[in-house]
Amino acid sequence: MSECLFCDIIEGEIKGDIVYQDDSVVAFRDINPKARVHLLLVPRKHIATLLDVEQGDKGLIGDIFYLAGKLARDQGISKDGFRVVVNCGAAAGQSVYHVHFHLLGGRRFTWPPG
Ligand code: 5GP
Ligand code: ZN
Repeated sequence: MSECLFCDIIEGEIKGDIVYQDDSVVAFRDINPKARVHLLLVPRKHIATLLDVEQGDKGLIGDIFYLAGKLARDQGISKDGFRVVVNCGAAAGQSVYHVHFHLLGGRRFTWPPG
């Protein structure tokens, strides 16, 4: 067990409903989904927040956005529209300090977000 919940899911020490993984990224279902499809796309590398992303991580972040589109298609939410969200810091509602990209779809969303 590490200090980080998502590192533990990535390492398989805590069970996650993993839908995709490769050398650098893991995607699993959110335990408390806010839409019919709600995945968390997480780099294997422990990066606490979006503010901690470094120059050398830029390719990784691009890979995650590319994957978001691919998984949206695979999960059947691309036609109607979907949302990718990063909460950064307390006021934005970040609760797990391992950067993650929420992929949400399968319902209508409002703007601005709450
Ligand atoms: P944040 O609030 O940091 O943007 O998002 C953290 C997300 O992690 C929340 O949507 C929450 O439901 C999800 N989460 C918290 N604990 C677990 C867990 O043990 N397993 C999974 N799959 N998701 C979790
Ligand atoms: Zn971590």
